[in-house]
Amino acid sequence: MEATPPPPVVEKDPREVADGVYVIPDGRVPLVPNVGIVVGDRAALVIDTGMGPRNGATVRSHADRLAAGRQMFLTLTHFHPEHGYGAQAFAGDAVTVYNRAQLDELRAKGAGYVELFKTFGAPVAAELEGVELVEPEIVYDGTAELELGGSRALLRDWGRAHTLGDQTVFLPEQRVLFTGDLVEERCFAIFPWFPPDDVDVDGHRWIEVLEELERLDPAIVVPGHGDVGGPELIATAREYLELLRDETARLADEGATEDDLAAELDRSLRALHPDWAQPEWIAFGARCFYTAYTRELAARS
Ligand SMILES: [Zn+2]
Repeated sequence: MEATPPPPVVEKDPREVADGVYVIPDGRVPLVPNVGIVVGDRAALVIDTGMGPRNGATVRSHADRLAAGRQMFLTLTHFHPEHGYGAQAFAGDAVTVYNRAQLDELRAKGAGYVELFKTFGAPVAAELEGVELVEPEIVYDGTAELELGGSRALLRDWGRAHTLGDQTVFLPEQRVLFTGDLVEERCFAIFPWFPPDDVDVDGHRWIEVLEELERLDPAIVVPGHGDVGGPELIATAREYLELLRDETARLADEGATEDDLAAELDRSLRALHPDWAQPEWIAFGARCFYTAYTRELAARS
């Protein structure tokens, strides 16, 4: 039996991972993201807020201290509750910037995800008490650049992958990449594959996006969840998705049903990565790849 997870609360202090670049580590607590705070000469950028108004206020207080009166920007890696549903703590003071696909997805699914997450237990529901979904001041398509003073932040919308509107933040001066949930560290890829309500995650496009992220050649990678590392984090995440894709196809070719192969891959991939968190997502990923594979076979015949 798995132990009860700790409550989803941002508790760690920010650590400086590069010049002017801070990360509030997730402490490997489920439903707590890694949060970024980038401090330039003139402005600061906060990347993700944690879930709910209390976590948002905690992040805000760290950001206020580090930004020390500089103009503040806020952006979110994607619309999932644990990443951005503390944004109300910044409302009116920080300039919020989202990619358009993320905003569209927030409008379409945000309220539903609040209700879904409230079913994850009392500690999660408590953090979502009083949550308000925040719309941005600035919306962009494709890419956006924030000039922070001696430090730039390149925001990029990758379209459909882990969600419909995953966004990364790359700091070219420090070569730091914030990936959101496109990359996790010692944590299985999160596949929000919830048919019929949400089937927008796309494993194939996700792999392509990771190939592009590798080409950015970052020195430091801040994953959505797990420890900060180097570019090998992206390669490991891509290799896992490729293995999940290929093993799903192999088992399907051998005649396994969706339920059979989900169970088999749950067993074999837990065994392959015994120290990785959140193995419950393996089967969701297998089902997602299976559906794509059967559609591809049907289209061919
Ligand atoms: Zn996510």
